[in-house]
Amino acid sequence: MPLLNEVRAFLDRDHGLVIDGASQASTGGRLDVLDPATEKVITTVAAASAVDVEDAVAAARRAFESGVWSGLAPTERATILWRAADLIEARREFFMQLETVDNGMPRMVAEGGLAVVIDVLRYMAGLVTKIEGMTLTPSRRTPTTTATSLLREPLGVVGLITPWNAPLLITVEKVAPALACGNTVVLKPAEWTPLSALALADVFAEAGLPAGVFNVVAGDGVTAGRALVRSRGVNKIGFTGSTAVGKEIARECATDLKRVSLELGGKSPNLIFADADLDAAIPAAAAAVFRNQGQSCTAAARLYVERATYQQVVDGIVAAAGRLTVGPGLEPGVDFGPLVSAEHRDRVSGYVERAVGDGAALLTGGTRPDREGFFFAPTVFAEVTSQHQIQREEVFGPVMTVTPFDDEGEVLSWANDSEFGLASSLWTSDISRANRVSRALQAGVVWVNCFGVFDAAVPLGGYKQSGWGRENGQAVIETYSQLKAVTTVYG
Ligand code: NAD
Repeated sequence: MPLLNEVRAFLDRDHGLVIDGASQASTGGRLDVLDPATEKVITTVAAASAVDVEDAVAAARRAFESGVWSGLAPTERATILWRAADLIEARREFFMQLETVDNGMPRMVAEGGLAVVIDVLRYMAGLVTKIEGMTLTPSRRTPTTTATSLLREPLGVVGLITPWNAPLLITVEKVAPALACGNTVVLKPAEWTPLSALALADVFAEAGLPAGVFNVVAGDGVTAGRALVRSRGVNKIGFTGSTAVGKEIARECATDLKRVSLELGGKSPNLIFADADLDAAIPAAAAAVFRNQGQSCTAAARLYVERATYQQVVDGIVAAAGRLTVGPGLEPGVDFGPLVSAEHRDRVSGYVERAVGDGAALLTGGTRPDREGFFFAPTVFAEVTSQHQIQREEVFGPVMTVTPFDDEGEVLSWANDSEFGLASSLWTSDISRANRVSRALQAGVVWVNCFGVFDAAVPLGGYKQSGWGRENGQAVIETYSQLKAVTTVYG
């Protein structure tokens, strides 16, 4: 499918850093942006040095202190966020194509993500006018002469760092609540997929967001990311990415007790009981790890199937893998695109080779299709135990393990035997079992008889080493604001 002229014009632009409402040259060189389906450079963007990051933080600080954003009436802030949603909706095809050539995701994945992006902006626009404090009755003083007002205030300058797997969606899930609470933002997008963040800056400017409130510093993690985390001018870091980098960021933030929220990795279990509706469970289990080529933090990479239906489910999953239409994301009918980069494909294939070496049974896939682009075949392993690396670590690719189980206690102990606790799912027609198992699963998200149901109103976040804090829903407001208690004694 040909690219829109608007997308071509965007790719042809000289992309600088977005600081204080203007495009600025960087002192950190430039980043090549590749289309993962063709391996070709489609544009370059300015890469921020540590000095550039400090410039952006200073601009965000000035904007915050001036009150140009936090001082607006909540309805005015809400209007700007809502307008941003309208502008993205009006340019759906532009954003969909941009996300696809930048990340490689199939069109249907980009479309699904865009729908949530628009919802999140509108949901947060709605919340702006409902961020409330409260009045407390004192416990040790006369209630008629003393009152405490609890005010919910912004944190100040928020540094946001995002990964490449769902670039616009994850960015908006952070930026929208940060702005809703009255903060100003410096965003560092992932180095492999910086384009939609830069296009979002255009949208916010057109929607009327004052200069300096939303700044974008593309660049790599070690230079630009670290500089943002270490900056004394930043009050809070909101991070989505790997658990290893999340731990480093938490340690850095401890130095000056910066606030930090972390959305990290996962290795989600999916439990199919023999009484499940297999016509629904089998395609959903396949999609749960092959959608977006498994590059999803919630990908259900560990499938457990009750023994009575094990073979039927395995056959169904392998058949579903074989039916996927592989190709560039913009081609009609494609539902399985390339991985994001050559480096990431090497990482995925390294996991697969080691799993074979460790004695896991390869049921399908495990190969690189012979074509241009960073493709890797949908892959299914059986005969793994919780000691196998492929069962314990996040591959972040289209790789699933399948294991039979005999009873509920056994499968729960395996499902919970993980350092991660992001998402989980279970399939059964027994409502009591659904209730029991969903309470026993150690994860921030449980999907019952469904998978991957994301909603702007529903909190998403991890148990255990999958993170700190929640995104979406009203719960996210706590992570981008702070409480002030003002006590008045009247006499
Ligand atoms: P990553 O941790 O390598 O990078 C994420 C971001 O951090 C990038 O912008 C990168 O440049 C930056 N970064 C890297 N090193 C840094 C450092 N030392 N200091 C500051 N910033 C640094 O992760 P990735 O490969 O981009 O993304 C994949 C990971 O993200 C997976 O583990 C996945 O599960 C996780 N993820 C989690 C969620 C969630 O909601 N929990 C959502 C999507 C992705």
